[in-house]
Amino acid sequence: MADARPLPEPALGTRVIFLGPPGAGKGTQAGRLAGHLRIPKVSTGDMLREAIAVGTPLGRVAGPLMEKGGLVPDDLLIDMMEERLDKPDAARGYILDGFPRTLRQAEGFEYIKRGDVTALVYVFNVEVPREELLKRLSGRRWCPHCQSTYHVQNNPPKDDSLCDKDRTLLIQREDDKETAVARRLAEYDERTAPLIDYYRGRSRFHTVDGYRPPDAVFAELKTIVATEKAAS
Ligand SMILES: [Zn+2]
Repeated sequence: MADARPLPEPALGTRVIFLGPPGAGKGTQAGRLAGHLRIPKVSTGDMLREAIAVGTPLGRVAGPLMEKGGLVPDDLLIDMMEERLDKPDAARGYILDGFPRTLRQAEGFEYIKRGDVTALVYVFNVEVPREELLKRLSGRRWCPHCQSTYHVQNNPPKDDSLCDKDRTLLIQREDDKETAVARRLAEYDERTAPLIDYYRGRSRFHTVDGYRPPDAVFAELKTIVATEKAAS
């Protein structure tokens, strides 16, 4: 939807953290908000995949771990983020996607942005009922050739189980199969959900109803940022 109004000026040092379980739509919203505020989206998942593909020292440690469904150690992720957020394009702010995911990472993030009092840190906690998450995650399909993603209900391919672009047979990623989904949700409950209490009351914390169409969620995020900026 085109918007004829001028784009907002990004507030100096606007930083956004997304909390919420897998399947809540955080990555999508993070990307849209980054475009809206014209600041980079910093995704740990993308960075790790890239490090693995290029074969950096970090990638060589993370690759085998992730292949087995294991977790990348907090300290490695914190170091990776410190290096990334030090780059010039992050000076005006950034949207984090996939970080922090543990209390230790949250503490690491405090350390990374130490001394920076001009920063506005928004925390969006995206809530979606568990039943809906299961539906979203288990319905995901993926083209191994061009990496397009589909969903059996929300975004099905035109031709049953074939990619629209190259007619490759779509597959379900290991991560989206039932046992993996259960593991990811349990990990979220154990490791990430405590961050809700950590951030509530100590920052610009907002719980957002993610059980709505993506456009409605995005509209609310934009309103919150605009309202708070006006008030600050
Ligand atoms: Zn394809």
